[in-house]
Amino acid sequence: MSDNDTIFSKIIRREIPADIVYEDDLCLAFRDVQPQAPVHVLLIPKKPIPKLADASPADHALLGHLLLKAKQVAADLGLEQGFRLVINNGEDGGQTVYHLHLHILGGRSLSWPPG
Ligand code: 5GP
Repeated sequence: MSDNDTIFSKIIRREIPADIVYEDDLCLAFRDVQPQAPVHVLLIPKKPIPKLADASPADHALLGHLLLKAKQVAADLGLEQGFRLVINNGEDGGQTVYHLHLHILGGRSLSWPPG
């Protein structure tokens, strides 16, 4: 267990269930329990980085991996018409779970700007 043990670490360890749509050695993608769009998946690194602002130069390759996997997961889930990636960072960013995650949203036309 790390210092940054969150509900997402428990999902990685299969201690709580999740609808997992993708996994490799570095990351895990699963459906959000409170979806805000027809497709709403969370893509997380297995490394428990609390938030994007805590990432370091050592995470360079991992962050690139996450972006490339986000587009792969979006394609695998049929989001040919487009999708949105969101990273909430910190209190003003609306972050509620302090384990870095990308929201992959799609399956409907998304409005802009966000609230
Ligand atoms: P944040 O607000 O931190 O950017 O996003 C956290 C997301 O995690 C929210 O969209 C919330 O619905 C989702 N979430 C919180 N707890 C769970 C859980 O136990 N399982 C799943 N699948 N999603 C969760």
